[in-house]
Amino acid sequence: MSQQGYVATPPYSQSQPGIGLSPPHYGHYGDPSHTGSPPGMMKPAGPLGAAAPGGMLPQGHPPHGPHQFGQNGAHAQGPPLQRFPGPPPVNSAAPSYAPYSPSTQSSYPSPVSTSSVAQLGTQLSAMHVNSYGSGMAPPSQGPPGPPSAAAAFQGPSRSPQPSILQPGSQVLPPPPTALNGPSASPLPPSTHRQDGLPGPAPPNAQYQPPPLPGQTLGPGYPLQQANYGPQMAGAQLSYPGGFPGGPAQMAGPPQPQKKLDPDSIPSPIQVIENDRATRGGQVYTTNTRGQIPPLVTTDCTIQDQGNASPRYIRCTTYCFPCTSDMAKQAQIPLAAIIKPFATIPSNETPLYLVNHGETGPVRCNRCKAYMCPFMQFIEGGRRYQCGFCNCVNDVPPFYFQHLDHIGRRLDHYEKPELSLGSYEYVATLDYCRKNKPPSPPAFIFMIDVSYSNIKNGLVKLICEELKTVLEKLPKEDQEETSSLRVGFITYNKVLHFFNVKSTLARPQMMVVTDVSEVFVPLLDGFLVSYQESQSVIHNLLDQIPEMFADSNENETVFAPVIRAGMEALKAADCPGKLFIFHSSLPTAEAPGKLKNRDDKKLINTDKEKILFQPQTNVYDPLAKDCVAHGCCVTLFLFPSQYVDVASLGLVPQLTGGTLYKYNNFQVHLDSQQFLNDLRNDIEKKIGFDAIMRVRTSTGFRATDFFGGIYMNNTTDVEMAAIDCDKAVTVEFKHDDKLSEDSGALIQCAVLYTTVSGQRRLRIHNLGLNCSSQLADLYKSCETDALINFFAKSAFKAVLHQPLKVIREILVNQTAHVLACYRKNCASPSAASQLILPDSMKVLPVYMNCLLKNCVLLSRPEISTDERAYQRQLVMTMGVADSQLFFYPQLRPIHTLDVKSTTLPAAIRCSESRLSEEGIFLLANGVNMFLWLGVSSPPELIQGIFNVPSFAHVNTDITSLPELGNPYSQTLRMIMGIIQQKRPYSMKLTIVKQREQPEMVFRQFLVEDKGLYGGSSYVDFLCCVHKEICQLLN
Ligand SMILES: [Zn+2]
Repeated sequence: MSQQGYVATPPYSQSQPGIGLSPPHYGHYGDPSHTGSPPGMMKPAGPLGAAAPGGMLPQGHPPHGPHQFGQNGAHAQGPPLQRFPGPPPVNSAAPSYAPYSPSTQSSYPSPVSTSSVAQLGTQLSAMHVNSYGSGMAPPSQGPPGPPSAAAAFQGPSRSPQPSILQPGSQVLPPPPTALNGPSASPLPPSTHRQDGLPGPAPPNAQYQPPPLPGQTLGPGYPLQQANYGPQMAGAQLSYPGGFPGGPAQMAGPPQPQKKLDPDSIPSPIQVIENDRATRGGQVYTTNTRGQIPPLVTTDCTIQDQGNASPRYIRCTTYCFPCTSDMAKQAQIPLAAIIKPFATIPSNETPLYLVNHGETGPVRCNRCKAYMCPFMQFIEGGRRYQCGFCNCVNDVPPFYFQHLDHIGRRLDHYEKPELSLGSYEYVATLDYCRKNKPPSPPAFIFMIDVSYSNIKNGLVKLICEELKTVLEKLPKEDQEETSSLRVGFITYNKVLHFFNVKSTLARPQMMVVTDVSEVFVPLLDGFLVSYQESQSVIHNLLDQIPEMFADSNENETVFAPVIRAGMEALKAADCPGKLFIFHSSLPTAEAPGKLKNRDDKKLINTDKEKILFQPQTNVYDPLAKDCVAHGCCVTLFLFPSQYVDVASLGLVPQLTGGTLYKYNNFQVHLDSQQFLNDLRNDIEKKIGFDAIMRVRTSTGFRATDFFGGIYMNNTTDVEMAAIDCDKAVTVEFKHDDKLSEDSGALIQCAVLYTTVSGQRRLRIHNLGLNCSSQLADLYKSCETDALINFFAKSAFKAVLHQPLKVIREILVNQTAHVLACYRKNCASPSAASQLILPDSMKVLPVYMNCLLKNCVLLSRPEISTDERAYQRQLVMTMGVADSQLFFYPQLRPIHTLDVKSTTLPAAIRCSESRLSEEGIFLLANGVNMFLWLGVSSPPELIQGIFNVPSFAHVNTDITSLPELGNPYSQTLRMIMGIIQQKRPYSMKLTIVKQREQPEMVFRQFLVEDKGLYGGSSYVDFLCCVHKEICQLLN
């Protein structure tokens, strides 16, 4: 089949006018903000510090720098088997991933896989040549090689089964998934079809995501409420000539439309389970360029052997197309989701810290990339060629080392920066503000003490909790106590600063009434060591609830609170984080004052985007100031009505903070969720005053960034702070050709200040493959990462574009990606068949989940604040969190084996999977539901709730009682496991079948038709298929 011209053909512009999709803006919604640097390899030095002064060192400097990494310089020849002091704890019984095959010419050898020194040596020298383009013919170029070689190049295929549906599919790996093909069709052959002619769809069946019901819905639950019962909506969208392809269907007269069997369409659960079965519990080594990691839902041990762990970086595809034409043809976004501070399990090696003393890190003179495994040493070790810009640099004398017979430095395995994908550098003063070491950061707690917060007990709750949680301030491993300092402010329409100096007998309060230009009334005694001032601080926390007990002040300010905290950090010359506990719309006269502008009339108009934008222009410059001073803002919101999350949340978002929202907070019900969040947020790993730079090898570059970030220019990603749960999604575009030989290399460097005030650089390197074969691109995709990218780019676009346009782009791009595969990669088959690449089996169902998210659903029933909140939530999510958020986990509890510690197997999120006799647990990372069928087994109800029957269960509770029996213990343990490692404490809601709150729960059954619109999975698949057929014609 032809591989050209597909994208350029005009189906979008001709047959679907008005979609607003022009070729240069694929996936971008026409955001004009990124201009980028001119193509080419010259990249400005950027503010990550000046060039390393290493070259100026005196000649007498010892050949090994003063690094903290291994003392053994004695590995003379041959590949050492013992690499580092404290080798990664690899279970030797578990097989390694990506068996190293000499024929694959991968870039980074696994020292573990050595079978003999000679063999490894040969491999390495071959790779040495191939990886850095010294002229040898690329191994897998030219005409598409035999599929087995291509498959081996990629590491293990994600799906072990060969395609059983596509007889010719072995020509192109991986096997596509065909639905209802002739050999495996679960459908009877009598199903109606139109002789395989996809043809134009009936005009009235044009997909309009999401379909809007005709009726006007009241403010409560929509009319479907009465419609209880299995609602597989497959029949609602009659789809002629669709799925049931295959020659057998040619016979017989057309018959009435048949529902598509949900079991016959790709199941996310199956995909997750397959990957778990083949790759779970194993050791995944990152020794091979372009290797596809296990899915984010698969537990495994990761061993860094030259590329960053997928915990730090995941990509939408691990094989980039060689040319931009090819990229445009496929329309697969090229993006990386980078979580630079990701939590690493205790059985994996933490990052090594490299210290070159005063000379600082070794960097390429031209592009400023940091020393890494992609640098190629030449000329006996005196020079090295940069893998990013190809510049040949002198090796600084202090860093010199001889090469062995295969051209590798003798100290290769002793230096993390030569052999690992991720490591840290101690930064020199060049990398510090004003060239002086930073002060340890500070946390400032800022409590809204207006009337309602005092009255409902929230202020008392916060103050009580702070007394214990302050004991757990983050610290370096070797520190005895935290270096962080703490400060306290309370506020309503004025601000109260507290002096908690350790020498005081009791705290002193200073009131600032001028909120238009906040100043900090005290320096000495405001930010203190918790350890030193503990008794004064406890005294203060005891007094605060009483101090304001008689206050009737209802009005609050907000922007001045942030400014006060930022000014205090600025005055103390340290970075830090503000913890703001706030409840209401800030209506008091002050900068950033807000009014209720929640206008449902804007929904479904071109002005809907206004609801997502801040209502005043105060907050954006405030965020910019905060970032400039390393002031991160985390906001705990307790709204009982509209508080304008879009405005209040802007500073937290742009400063790398977190927004927590507790609607209608009640101390007796919701404390636990809030306190868990607060503890977790205070204790979590965090870097302050951070700036991230993503460098790439020649031919492509980072063009767009999504996350809790602030961009003052097109390349420097500024973050007042970044914690272990925050991810930045980076999109890449070609600016030249990429070569299969040298691949596509990415280096992410984050300069930051640690909790103890050390300035450091955290480096993550990842090598991807490149190919001129579309099939290689498709088989290397990761749908979970794709959805993360699509979600963030769409949620960013809602600020500027009508939602209808965004939804259409998403649908069109999905169809386009799949049509391109069908046209160029899949073997010929009946047009009526839907063929999905193996790596994208669940792209349609996940895409439909994204389209049904309340941010993209223009429905007045959904609270504006909730939409703004979820938008913000997703913008900083990593891949694991976005996967769970868009496709929740649903697990049966009634089949629980109380003797087992494994989680009950998840099931698909559809009402048809529930049963009256069952109890099910659903979790999406924010919410958790326990759904009780009307005929739930009484012994289970008794075991879990300690009441005799379904009718007795109190659905108001937000946590399960701790009962001594096995049911209770096991269920609580399961909930604990699901909650583990998630950034937000999930709120538990008990839902009884056929009671009204069930409607809320049903919104999370994402394979079904949405209550507020949004197609069922089956319908969406039909629509996408139809679009594909149109594109192919
Ligand atoms: Zn360079």
